[in-house]
Amino acid sequence: MPKITPRSLSTNSHLPFGDMQNSPFYGLDIITVKQFDREQLTYIFEVAHEMYEMVLRVGSFDLLKGKILANLFYQPSTRTSSSYTSAMERLGGSVIPINNVSYSSVTKGESLPDTIRTLEAYADVIVLRHPEVGSSALAAKYAKKPIINAGDGIGEHPTQALLDLFTIQEELGRVDGLTITMMGDLKYGRTVHSLARLLSLYNVRLYYVSPENLCIPAEIQDEIAAKGIPQEYLTDLMSVLPETDVLYVTRVQQEYFEDPDQHEALKGSYMITTETMTRAKNEMILMHPMPRVWEIDMAVDDDPRAAYFRQMEYGQYIRMALLAMVLGKA
Ligand code: ASP
Repeated sequence: MPKITPRSLSTNSHLPFGDMQNSPFYGLDIITVKQFDREQLTYIFEVAHEMYEMVLRVGSFDLLKGKILANLFYQPSTRTSSSYTSAMERLGGSVIPINNVSYSSVTKGESLPDTIRTLEAYADVIVLRHPEVGSSALAAKYAKKPIINAGDGIGEHPTQALLDLFTIQEELGRVDGLTITMMGDLKYGRTVHSLARLLSLYNVRLYYVSPENLCIPAEIQDEIAAKGIPQEYLTDLMSVLPETDVLYVTRVQQEYFEDPDQHEALKGSYMITTETMTRAKNEMILMHPMPRVWEIDMAVDDDPRAAYFRQMEYGQYIRMALLAMVLGKA
């Protein structure tokens, strides 16, 4: 039996024999969409597509057998957390689920770096959702194992943006040449921040529809302008709906409002109904990162253009691809 020595503990211990150490994604943290270029996105989508086909054919397989994921969520989650669990389990791995940090040592005052260093002693990869912007970057600074940002406050949600883009690619067959309209809370909605940045790698036109005080941050608009992407801000959807190929709707992010009255006043600002859909292209897709609250009437769900439930499923394949890639198996 080899002895455990201080040197063998935690030093590059996510590089076990047999992994593809030359893969560009091996051991990588996924913190922001800014780290990706188009070539990498094409590769991720190819792997995700293969994952989809494998799940169709065999349901689950043992690519990540013996690997462990720690799911660490300091904010609520349904889709992100469970899609990572299903992704890991479909690949034969297992999960340490910390979906409610109030039952962990966080309530005893443990710092994020210490919690991360604890979990990486047991797991091969950590998925982190946290209310503070920059928390995943901070975690990555302390961790030797890959950290995947599952939402850092109003900052970014990079893997949601990857699955959003994969949805567009799979549903419409392309991204270049499309007009994408983002509507709702573009100020606090982190999925929009990541998606707009990712889309700026393509030849697209962006429209932002929101109440004036929920505009997309100037910093993001500047980044996108610097890439030469046409973008326009509006308060009303109707003038741009007929030319829209992808309508991406988000909820008003109640948890970030300091003034509950302001949230109350804005929460029902926009609603997509079957009547709205009559003005949209036949090939348009309607997306939403979910949860929806007021923004899309349930009567719209039967419209084939309503892609938000399919979008969730694409998320599982993207997360299978990312886990396999950062663990050196794809
Ligand atoms: N589920 C997404 C997120 O975590 C969108 C939302 O909550 O509105 O950011």
